[in-house]
Amino acid sequence: MTTSSDSSSGSLSREAIVEGLVDLIGGERIDTDEQVLKENSHDRYRKLESVFGIYTLPLPAAVVRASSTEEVSTVLAFCDTHGINVVPKTGGTATEGGLETVAENSIVIDGSAMNRIVKVDEYNMQATVQCGVKLQDLEDEVRKLGLTTGHSPQSKPIAMYGGLVATRSIGQFSTLYGGIEDMVMGLEAVLPSGEVVRIKDVPRRAAGPDIRHIIIGNEGALCYVTEVTVKLFAFYPNHNHYLGWRLDDMKPGFEILRDVMAAGYKPSVARLYDAEDGAQHGFDSFAPNQCVLIFTTEGPAGVSRATADGIAEIVNARSECTPVDTAIIKEWFEHLNWGPEKLIEEREFIRDNLRMGYTTEVSGNWSVINEIYENGIRRVREEFPHLADITMLGGHSSHSYQTGTNMYFVYDYNVVDCTYEEEREKYHIPLNAIFVEEALKAGGSMAHHHGIGKYRAPWTADEHGSAYRLLTGLKRDLDPNGIMNLGTIYPAPDAAPYSPSGD
Ligand SMILES: Cc1cc2nc3c(=O)[nH]c(=O)nc-3n(C[C@H](O)[C@H](O)[C@H](O)COP(=O)(O)OP(=O)(O)OC[C@H]3O[C@@H](n4cnc5c(N)ncnc54)[C@H](O)[C@@H]3O)c2cc1C
Repeated sequence: MTTSSDSSSGSLSREAIVEGLVDLIGGERIDTDEQVLKENSHDRYRKLESVFGIYTLPLPAAVVRASSTEEVSTVLAFCDTHGINVVPKTGGTATEGGLETVAENSIVIDGSAMNRIVKVDEYNMQATVQCGVKLQDLEDEVRKLGLTTGHSPQSKPIAMYGGLVATRSIGQFSTLYGGIEDMVMGLEAVLPSGEVVRIKDVPRRAAGPDIRHIIIGNEGALCYVTEVTVKLFAFYPNHNHYLGWRLDDMKPGFEILRDVMAAGYKPSVARLYDAEDGAQHGFDSFAPNQCVLIFTTEGPAGVSRATADGIAEIVNARSECTPVDTAIIKEWFEHLNWGPEKLIEEREFIRDNLRMGYTTEVSGNWSVINEIYENGIRRVREEFPHLADITMLGGHSSHSYQTGTNMYFVYDYNVVDCTYEEEREKYHIPLNAIFVEEALKAGGSMAHHHGIGKYRAPWTADEHGSAYRLLTGLKRDLDPNGIMNLGTIYPAPDAAPYSPSGD
């Protein structure tokens, strides 16, 4: 399968595109260095190729380092007029091919220089940031005021607000604070035509459909997010409780997660690891060949204590569970986030060992989640033709809701007997397809929080069913010339459908 397209970006030559941009916003914001163009032609989906410096996608014509909404608007209007494909970018941590420049002579609009914290409004408990503000930077700033964003994806030190909003990201404390969609108050975005739209920030309104949700999760396929206003929460660092148990199977673990959520408790973290995934995190030292169930609670002292007590009562009533030393859980949690150093370590490991891993995160209601988990793992064991190369296969649930939870499948493998470029076709694509298919078959969602990108786009219509026309309607209306991030969310017109044999 390929999602790449031969589509070229409009009628202008590469040189004419660059000249046009320089005329409009000046040369200092336009980068045409070949190595920069290569590095901006794809994302972590092509991990192995990045490690070995292999770039096979069409190189963008230029990377535009936008410094203002006006510049984004000017560049988008130019691209729209000339039919030039645009790939929005901020932190660059995308995992599903959202940053791939599949059309010839695309323009990457990099918003990372738009990194101003516009306002922290302590009284109204909200902050406004430009799209290039790193989540970590806002978090550090508001912590000085005893506040928190409540958002903590593992990519927090690198990811920026434009991408966090565009991918519908979610953080480790989501069970208490929600995903980004629960945090965004208002937004500013630029449409492909160059028109700037601003959605005002109010606590709630019943003034028609909630239009924030057209922009949250658009993955750069509809518009460019330039500014975001998010909620802030009181921060109580000294009130946290950490709880952990070990148990033999995932099924009772899912049941317990369900009972905790259904009872109305709001732990900040609620996680269930299977033995294989847990071992990757060192849990085999205290739970060999066992699953591990983890909760943390936070908030005002009484609330955090009562939440921890209530959860402990539910879990301890289950004979399957044995408590574990909570100091281990606390220590583990403090080192979970990824920064640039971890990314470098990962690259070195891949280069030296030719072993690498990916993930596929899906979701489902309580009644189907164990089935999705078991069927996904079973199908890989029974059907995947290169099972001998797999070094780890497992997963965890990390975001729970009243009605269900997510399943984050994790798989590592040795890359054997194929070129670096063939690695995705041989391993990642068929493995990812199994988990996506199992989620869809059970009525779940194929993408819990990494977005669709380009690599789950073959299933977008299946994911949305009869509601897909609402999604295509948005594309037609907002991006009539189809310049926004070709192949992302919406399959590229000439993309081949997924075929299990990989041909
Ligand atoms: C190590 C690691 C850990 C991760 N952990 C998590 C996690 O815990 N939770 C989670 O949800 N995700 C996680 N991710 C995925 C990723 O970090 C998030 O999706 C993040 O929100 C992307 O933000 P970014 O600024 O890096 O966006 P980018 O990588 O720059 O872009 C991501 C997508 O958004 C689009 N986009 C970027 N900026 C804009 C803009 N201004 N306007 C419109 N579209 C735009 C891009 O075109 C692309 O499709 C992780 C990734 C890595 C590498």
